[in-house]
Amino acid sequence: MTKRIRIIEGTWNCSSCDTKGIAARHKRCPTCNNPRELTDAESEFDFGETDAATGKSRREGVTDEKALDMARAGADWFCAYCGASNRGDHPRCKQCKAERSQDAQALRERELPGPARPVPAKKGPVSKVVWVLLGGLFLCCFGSMIYGVWMTRTQDYAGEIVGTAWRRAVTQERFSPVTKEGWRDELRLQPARMPVNGTGEVAGVQNLRGCVQSRRGSRQVADGTHRVCRTKTRKKACGTEEKCRTRDKGNGFREEVCEDITRYCDESYEDCNEETRYRDEPIYATRCSYDTYQWKDVARQETAGKDGEAPRWPDLAPRPEDRLQREEHYTLRITWKKGEPPVEHALQTEQEFLAWKKGQPVSVTVTNGGEVKQLRAR
Ligand SMILES: [Zn+2]
Ligand SMILES: [Zn+2]
Repeated sequence: MTKRIRIIEGTWNCSSCDTKGIAARHKRCPTCNNPRELTDAESEFDFGETDAATGKSRREGVTDEKALDMARAGADWFCAYCGASNRGDHPRCKQCKAERSQDAQALRERELPGPARPVPAKKGPVSKVVWVLLGGLFLCCFGSMIYGVWMTRTQDYAGEIVGTAWRRAVTQERFSPVTKEGWRDELRLQPARMPVNGTGEVAGVQNLRGCVQSRRGSRQVADGTHRVCRTKTRKKACGTEEKCRTRDKGNGFREEVCEDITRYCDESYEDCNEETRYRDEPIYATRCSYDTYQWKDVARQETAGKDGEAPRWPDLAPRPEDRLQREEHYTLRITWKKGEPPVEHALQTEQEFLAWKKGQPVSVTVTNGGEVKQLRAR
């Protein structure tokens, strides 16, 4: 790849007579003869516009030997005595003949930043939406957390038990013969055994019959291959583009080096492969009917009472092959705020329940959510 080198000449403005755009090769203003001084260095040489994509200066390069010689002379320095700017390769001030001293200020040669890389599409609005959503989520979660904490904070009140209630139920179950179906290879023939006082029973598997082949499920089997194509993208060289680097020589000239760089583009192509195809194949197995036993509800009775009535169980007469399932519920109705309806509070055992009576004054610890946490006699 060939490099193209150009020397670009800057311009400066005279601070004494307001002459603008003086070529850098002139160290003195052609109008008023005032030398370019250190104070002018702060306003810098002007080099005009640069193409943003390539980094190439829009100015013509200079080719005359006098200008090229000045560009090669090194960074300018400023006379410590009279302030005039001097060529880097001149040891004496051309205005006052003073020698270049250690403390003389000078410009510096430096590499300038290259052309800007293409910037990917901005995601500004999208990320804004994401931030709003995240913020909303945060507020929502934080808010519900605070609310959750507040709901579980407790307070103590003086209250009263205004009622007690209990409810009991007994379900009578009988170990009864049934017909079921199952897969032959999962069934083990076994005689049934009846329960004694509701325990020790074995359901059993007996009298296998009516066995038929039946679909039990399916499995995947290979069924040849087929060609599958997917569209993919890859990078491909697609011509060249010019890129330029620029070096400021510190003396009103710049050296620009341009070269052609290979450019890469996305190219889509078909990526095809032979892939195994699968199909579902049904699985069959033998399914049979058989005799067995299971618990069935045959009766259910409930009892209930309130306000000092003693809890009692319903009266059922089970057979030896029966069992009884018992449920019990105990509740207290408590008030602690005038004018509000009583709150029901459930207790686990009969023993707990019997410790409380209707009309009894109590201390009650309640959460802000209205849940009774603790109950004490008062
Ligand atoms: Zn001037
Ligand atoms: Zn001087």
